Amino acid sequence: MNAIIKWVLFVLVLILLVGSYTLYTFVDRIKNGVEEYDYDPPELTIREATTAILVFTKTNAYIHKEAIKASVPALQKLCADQGWEMYHTENGAIFNESQLSLFDVIIWNNVSGPVLTDIQQNAMIDYIEKGGGFIGIHAAGDGSHKWTWYRENIIGAEYSHHPMNPQFQEAKIHLECDTILSFPCDELSTSFDRTDEWYIFMDNPRNNGMRVLYTVDESTINPDGQFYLLQRDKKFGMGKDHPIAWYNTIKKGRSFYSAMGHTADSWIEEAHLDIIRKAILWTGQIQPKK
Ligand SMILES: [Zn+2]
Repeated sequence: MNAIIKWVLFVLVLILLVGSYTLYTFVDRIKNGVEEYDYDPPELTIREATTAILVFTKTNAYIHKEAIKASVPALQKLCADQGWEMYHTENGAIFNESQLSLFDVIIWNNVSGPVLTDIQQNAMIDYIEKGGGFIGIHAAGDGSHKWTWYRENIIGAEYSHHPMNPQFQEAKIHLECDTILSFPCDELSTSFDRTDEWYIFMDNPRNNGMRVLYTVDESTINPDGQFYLLQRDKKFGMGKDHPIAWYNTIKKGRSFYSAMGHTADSWIEEAHLDIIRKAILWTGQIQPKK
C-alpha cells in the first residue's frame, strides 16, 4: 500500500477514536455528572437582618452556559427591585450551617450533577427542614443529581428526557391557582405561549404530593426525544396532565421547582420572571414590597 494512503487511513482512524472518546465522555458527563466538590467556603458579607437570596450555579454535568450567564444579572435586578441582597456562587462549600442561615432562599439555578458532599447535603436538608426556602430551576431537576432525598422531596418526579425534534418549541402553559398552601398565584398569567426545552418526567409529581403551579399543554408540543442511537425509546410525553412547575412543603421549609429556564431569553421574559419572584416570596416566606 502506498505510504500516503497508509497515513490517510491512520489519521482517519485516529479522528474516529478521538471523536468516539469525546462523545462518550460528553454523554457520560451529562447523564451521570462528575464528582467535583468544594471544601473552602467563600467569605460572605451578608448582613444578618437583610432578606438575602443565594444563587447557586455549580454544574458538574450539563452546563447551561447561556442561561446561567443571562439569569444572574436578571436575578440581581429582581432582588434589587425588592430590596433583597443576592449572593451568587458556584462554591458548594457554602452549604454549611452558619452560612446557609444567612439566606432566606437558596436557588439552584441550572445546577447539574453531584455537587455536594454528604456533609453539605445534610446541611441543606437541615436548612430546609428548619424553615428555609429552596428553588430549583430547569437542570436542577434533570437526571444527573443522583441524590434520593433531593429527588423525592424537592423534585418529586424522575426525569426522562426533553424533546429533540425539535429541541426548542413554543408551547402553551396553564396556571393552576389554588389557596391550599397560599402560593401567591393570583397575579400570575393564567395562560400564555412561551418557547423552552420542555422536560418530560417518568412519573407525575402531582401523584407524589407536589402542588402544581403550571402545566404545559402537550397538544402544543412534540415530546419526541429520540436522538439517533443515544436516546432510544423516548418517543413519549406525559399525556394530558404535564406539570412544568410545582411546589411543596418539607417540614417547616418550602420548595419550588420549575422545569422552565433553558434559554437565555427566559431571563428577559417578564411572565417567567414573575413566576420566579412569586416563588422567592413563597419559599422564603417573605412579605412583598408594597
Ligand atoms: Zn436544558
